[in-house]
Amino acid sequence: MAVHDDGGVLVVRSVDELRAVVRDARREGSRIGFVPTMGYLHDGHLSLIRRAVAECDVAVTSIFVNPTQFNDPADLAAYPRDEAHDLELARAAGCTIAFLPSVHAVYPPGFATTVRIDGPITEALEGAVRGPQHFWGVATVVAKLFSMVAPDAAFFGQKDAQQCVVVRRLITDLDLPIELVVCPTLREPDGLAMSSRNVRLGPADRQRAVALIEALRAAELAVTSGTTTAEDVRVVATKAMLDRGVVPEYVAVVDPSTFAALDCIQRRALVLVAAEVGPVRLIDNLFVERGTV
Ligand code: AMP
Repeated sequence: MAVHDDGGVLVVRSVDELRAVVRDARREGSRIGFVPTMGYLHDGHLSLIRRAVAECDVAVTSIFVNPTQFNDPADLAAYPRDEAHDLELARAAGCTIAFLPSVHAVYPPGFATTVRIDGPITEALEGAVRGPQHFWGVATVVAKLFSMVAPDAAFFGQKDAQQCVVVRRLITDLDLPIELVVCPTLREPDGLAMSSRNVRLGPADRQRAVALIEALRAAELAVTSGTTTAEDVRVVATKAMLDRGVVPEYVAVVDPSTFAALDCIQRRALVLVAAEVGPVRLIDNLFVERGTV
């Protein structure tokens, strides 16, 4: 196979070339793993790439800042980018193929198709704040990337929990023969979930940003200590955030697979938080389980 001979990463920008390289690899019996990203790679992304490398013969990483999933043009314009550094990190993580399509390659003139997923998984939480169009943008670009790469397995981060549920729905509803692998959230030493957006936090905001994980851990402690009412969990988590001077956009306790809001935690629940910390919007989540202490 042409790729990987020198331990390097093959950089591909056109869909036709990507299809040709992946087709060759598949012909040789390779299992294809795929990690979609928006670049500015950090250890969270790299953990996905390493998992794809470990579980597959060929790991494809896409770097594409998808304009259709941004509801705020200023957020899109401020999104950090560093292609050369990303390629170096991806190579070091063992990535075989880096796919960096242009906006034009993904959305050619006349593009008019949207993959629209309805219901609470796109309308609640992130969908309520950013509009369901955010997840339609995600679903559309992921469907296109899946069609271009045709992977056997796709690796996504639990950090974007609602996105994982949306992608699972997409795979099921469109009968895509792709295994979805959800990987754990990687965190900074103080618990802040790694994110490309963290670089835009100033020193004071960076300190306050631990409010999200502190809220989630407070929620976890409440549940393991016997709290079963979702509202009580939300109050505890909200207080933890406010104590850090961060006003939550939402604190939610949901069924992990449907994203329906829970009144009472029977066994396992997902707690999600979002907040604007200075100029940056942050999200995080944690599974909580009754009776684990
Ligand atoms: P993004 O570039 O933000 O679109 O993220 C690309 C992929 O990396 C998504 O599947 C994210 O969920 C995942 N990801 C982002 N941050 C983390 C993290 N801290 N830990 C694990 N995965 C992450």
